[in-house]
Amino acid sequence: MKRYVVKPRVVKPRVKRRAAKPRSIKRAAAAAVALCCLIGGTTAATAGSQAPTPGSAGMGDSYFPQYGNGGYDVGHYDVRNRVELDTGRLVGVTAFRAVAGQSLSRFNVDLVLPVRAVSVNGHRAAFSRTNRHEVQIRPRTPIADDASFVVRVAYAGRPGAISWGGERPWQASRREVVAMGEPQMAAWWFAANDHPRDKAVLDVRITVERGLQAISNGKLKAITRGTRWTVWHWRADEPMAPYLAFFAAGRYTIERGRTADGLPWLNAVSKELDPYSRTESTALMRQTPRVIAWLEGWLGPYPFSTTGGLTTSLDAGFALENQTRPTYPSVGGRESTWLVVHELAHQWFGDRVSVDNWRDIWLNEGPATYLETLWSGNGGEATPQAWLLSTWESIPANSDFWKLKIGDPGPGRLFDGPIYDRGAMTMQALRHRIGDTDFKALLRAWVRGPANGSTADFTALAESVSGEDLDAFFDAWLFTGSRPARTADNGLA
Ligand SMILES: [Zn+2]
Repeated sequence: MKRYVVKPRVVKPRVKRRAAKPRSIKRAAAAAVALCCLIGGTTAATAGSQAPTPGSAGMGDSYFPQYGNGGYDVGHYDVRNRVELDTGRLVGVTAFRAVAGQSLSRFNVDLVLPVRAVSVNGHRAAFSRTNRHEVQIRPRTPIADDASFVVRVAYAGRPGAISWGGERPWQASRREVVAMGEPQMAAWWFAANDHPRDKAVLDVRITVERGLQAISNGKLKAITRGTRWTVWHWRADEPMAPYLAFFAAGRYTIERGRTADGLPWLNAVSKELDPYSRTESTALMRQTPRVIAWLEGWLGPYPFSTTGGLTTSLDAGFALENQTRPTYPSVGGRESTWLVVHELAHQWFGDRVSVDNWRDIWLNEGPATYLETLWSGNGGEATPQAWLLSTWESIPANSDFWKLKIGDPGPGRLFDGPIYDRGAMTMQALRHRIGDTDFKALLRAWVRGPANGSTADFTALAESVSGEDLDAFFDAWLFTGSRPARTADNGLA
């Protein structure tokens, strides 16, 4: 994610747009925690027990205890939604295939929309709500440990009217909707196990009024036109964290092509934008192949089978690294390529390798901001190290900037400035400390590693690749609420 504050343009667009306002993530997350604490925990299953027990209501994320659910792992989602732009209504069915990680008497899914019906393995199942976010499902017969099962949830409602934990992430007008958000979005449009640790393949079918388009992750498989409605079927072939799934519906100009390496790309730009912004956004989205080629020089092969981007007319206030197809607000033309670099860098750091817990967020934003800095010419300095030293010097030791421990920032501060900037500085300091060769080897090993990674995993890999003891280094940069001393050990001399 990258917040984007609209700056005055040199060339005035014909239609004046409102300035983007940052979302109140801090307040929302704090409220989410408060709500969790009021509700209290659900009894976790007893490990090794033969008797069926309830799956836990959360995945065990220390910042967001209700995110995700315990007791099963989803392999595939089949999401079929109809979206009515004029009423803001969404009617749909999510069917997902999962494997039980324990013998389950019941389990939860994350969904804020009102539920109409639930079935498990084709049999109607009882369900209830423990709160706005959690749907508790009790199958007719318990599910055996390690068994594969299919859950079907039907729902209908107006996502834009629903807030949970103080957050209302739905973005829509009467002419366009885009489901983009972090850390939460999935539960507003499909029944999910909504934590980055449960990745799955998705088929998404969005039904819109004839004449409109619907865009999602992955590849466009089919467009089925009826008399009133059109169904757009998208398939994401590589497993994805639920928050990285998106769809947008409205009127778009769609462009397709292939990169020099043969990677298919598909870009979409909202026709609701004024002509100037459409031209600029189209030019910006077309930078995608060039940016991917540059990033591959650092990180190795692009990790997915398709790419592209979408520019919405909605005033999102941020861009997001939705897997295979990031979503952007209207931010101008080629001069904003740094934002494309940021979101595409996340395809490796964030999407291919996702946080293990939301506490690890700097592992997404630090590398993405660092690569954005390199692309942008080291902030005007001659070398990346000169950029690091001048940035270090320019932020006084008593600045609040240094107070945030970015390795454990707290749930209300996931997207605070230091997560990005101190995170990027950490990457350059590490590069200076272990040398270019080991640094590049570390990045490449990390992005080819497991689907999720924690800060502890990253620091262990850095030590293994470099053969150095980096405990004090990472402690100074990630877990100390003060400015790292200007020492060689800290990569600053
Ligand atoms: Zn980001």
